[in-house]
Amino acid sequence: MQKDDVLRLMRDPNLLPSEKQVLLSNIAAQAAAMDMPCYIVGGFVRDLLLGKPVNDLDVIVEGDAIKFGKSLVKTFGGKLTFHDKFHTAIWHLPPTFDLQPSTLDLITARKETYLMPGALPTVTPSTIEDDLRRRDFTINCMAIRIDGDHFGELLDPLKGQADLEEGLIRILHPQSFIDDPTRIFRAIRYEARYSFNLEPSTLNRINAKALDVIPRLSGERIRHELDLIFEEENSAQMISRAGELGLFEKIHPRLPLFNPNYSYFLEMDSTLGIPTSKSEIGYMLWLMDLLEDDIMSIGQRLNFTSDLTYSVWAVSQLKKSLPFLVGSSPSVWTYALEKLPLLSIYVVYLVAREDALLDFLSIWRHVKPHTTGNDLKARGLQPGPQFGKILQEIRSAWLDGVLSSKTEEDVLLEKLLAEIS
Ligand code: ATP
Ligand code: MG
Repeated sequence: MQKDDVLRLMRDPNLLPSEKQVLLSNIAAQAAAMDMPCYIVGGFVRDLLLGKPVNDLDVIVEGDAIKFGKSLVKTFGGKLTFHDKFHTAIWHLPPTFDLQPSTLDLITARKETYLMPGALPTVTPSTIEDDLRRRDFTINCMAIRIDGDHFGELLDPLKGQADLEEGLIRILHPQSFIDDPTRIFRAIRYEARYSFNLEPSTLNRINAKALDVIPRLSGERIRHELDLIFEEENSAQMISRAGELGLFEKIHPRLPLFNPNYSYFLEMDSTLGIPTSKSEIGYMLWLMDLLEDDIMSIGQRLNFTSDLTYSVWAVSQLKKSLPFLVGSSPSVWTYALEKLPLLSIYVVYLVAREDALLDFLSIWRHVKPHTTGNDLKARGLQPGPQFGKILQEIRSAWLDGVLSSKTEEDVLLEKLLAEIS
């Protein structure tokens, strides 16, 4: 692609909002002033060339990214945090740029070596070409130079543009997935996100030898990849592809395929206002039909928070106990459900379509008596188990439709007080 064409894309406000264009030209000017070759790399270039709006900016310099960051802060303000060991910095942009995300990664062009498959690489400063060669797929290995007169020059030593045009995901060398099997997850994500294909020899490299490195990945890293999959629009397609390719048994021997009957629920928007993330729902749907022990052990392998493990477990328990609850009165449902995470109840509702669950989430859980503990105290009752019992009886009467007015509640309260006196 010619410089003019790249410039045209970079100036398109539908692809790159004008505030980000301002930020870019400021960075470009600063880099030129410091004689530091400076590039935008990775997803930015890929999405720009695809004519899609770009998200995060990754800035690479041939030179010291920390020094560069410090000079940006000096000129434009904001704050810098940095990692001496990795030669990287994060620029916390000053509010004047008015940008989301409000941070920018500044990276020193580097070379990486893998001492051991599946471990994190060792890093040494180097050239942009070396930096592109450490990356995952050709379509992610392009850079656009931005300092001074170079603004808009496309660097494509690994022929990413050709693969982008043909819709191919291609690794850079045969050892790639063995060095870092998280790339297998990434390949699956790009494949479904862009409706691309895995280039045949790349697909071949997702073989037993590469899969055998997956057990060495930390739970944290695998869960991060799975989270990213669930956050995507075509997550159902991605997660079933990951299963077909044999990734799951390498993560945990009892990690099942994703039930295709539940795929639809991955794409749903509504959660009835219950705060959640798509990945939480994803794990619940994926693991709910497992035995308790397997849920615990998979949760451990994937380094779930205890809350997430509990929520998944709650889904499985509730789903199993549904047949025993069906036909119960609203108060029985309410007291059974009240201890469980709302999202777990919602997910069981999605798959079981039991109306009582929806009634609980939207109505019953909010039903409270007019009478409060303070009222009971005012009536001379000592706080204790009696308290809760009386309030619960009144609440049940509301839930089950026995009461329909405050006057009726008062009558019931008198009756209950009389019973204990
Ligand atoms: P996305 O739109 O999914 O964020 P991205 O290309 O921005 O795509 P990031 O995960 O943000 O992806 O990573 C930024 C860049 O870092 C990638 O484009 C790729 O070049 C490189 N990269 C990320 N993860 C790896 C990896 N595991 N191995 C090699 N290179 C990687
Ligand atoms: Mg990104």
